[in-house]
Amino acid sequence: MFNIVIFGKPGSGKGTQADFLKDKYDLYHISTGDLFRKNILNKTNLGIEAKSFLDNGDLVPDIVTIKMLENEVTENKGVKGFIFDGFPRTSYQAEKLDALLTKYSLNIHLTIALDVDNETLIERLLNRGKSSGRADDQSEDKINKRLREYDKKTKPLIEFYTKQNKYKSINGIGEMDDITARIVNLLDNYLNDRG
Ligand code: AMP
Repeated sequence: MFNIVIFGKPGSGKGTQADFLKDKYDLYHISTGDLFRKNILNKTNLGIEAKSFLDNGDLVPDIVTIKMLENEVTENKGVKGFIFDGFPRTSYQAEKLDALLTKYSLNIHLTIALDVDNETLIERLLNRGKSSGRADDQSEDKINKRLREYDKKTKPLIEFYTKQNKYKSINGIGEMDDITARIVNLLDNYLNDRG
């Protein structure tokens, strides 16, 4: 199995790149943001619980997010590998993910971070907001709040995965295809070395 985390700030291109990587490496894509949005659209209990957090640019509480993620992994544990997109976002989530994977004799192999500066991210997200209709992409205030949430709660994961020797970052600015090529190069090297 080959399990990776695609990591980065809001708007860094995680979802776009994960969409490509899932096909190329035959991975099952789990995007917690997409799962929440689907539940909100379908007005499930989970969606009702999560909506205000998403709309305000806050993280959904760990306990809710982890349960949703655990269900998704457990239901699909026969796949060739997972690509986790938007999860983990807190140290607690990262520990829970490791524990869950260990339970199934699995582990995270690599965490790929897309490095993009805040100025570029704000511009990208405001642009995306024009077509996505996402409430959290509509104002610079909300975008800044999400960036602050990242700094406070998600950034410590860089150290978490670096300590495990799993953290790799690439430049996330440029043409989409060029960014994809940087990730593919990194993953192929890893897979070749692994043999
Ligand atoms: P994303 O689509 O990854 O940008 O996520 C959109 C929103 O979904 C975030 O701003 C959070 O409100 C929520 N969300 C997604 N993933 C997580 C997570 N791992 N933990 C907590 N909240 C999350």
